[in-house]
Amino acid sequence: MSDCIFCKIAGGEIPASLVHQDESVIAFKDLNPQAPLHVLVVPRRHIATLNDLESDDDALVGSMFRVAAQLAKAHGYADRGYRTVFNCNREAGQSVFHLHLHLLAGRGLSWPPG
Ligand code: 5GP
Ligand code: ZN
Repeated sequence: MSDCIFCKIAGGEIPASLVHQDESVIAFKDLNPQAPLHVLVVPRRHIATLNDLESDDDALVGSMFRVAAQLAKAHGYADRGYRTVFNCNREAGQSVFHLHLHLLAGRGLSWPPG
């Protein structure tokens, strides 16, 4: 997707503060962090929303969660706690239509979310 900001980050066309990269997934700091640690875990391949996943993507999504857990641990939040969130479509607040898993940590996170 030539006009997708996360495809451009994955392709190295737009800079980002990368904290992880492998053959299928990258992770980088959110530009507008909502917690002391706010990372986006993103598949390299363009997938618009959670609704667009297929059964072949199960391993990819598992890998996204594993990367998030590894990053939480690496930053010292495994025991304190952290949150992972996929926003899907308008009412959930999705603003970038390339699948991404938010990892938030470093402050008390209220429930239910707003
Ligand atoms: P959403 O609202 O779609 O769930 O989350 C999109 C996230 O992407 C937002 O938290 C927003 O701050 C972040 N974001 C949008 N554009 C950029 C960008 O160019 N670089 C980075 N690092 N984050 C971005
Ligand atoms: Zn994309």
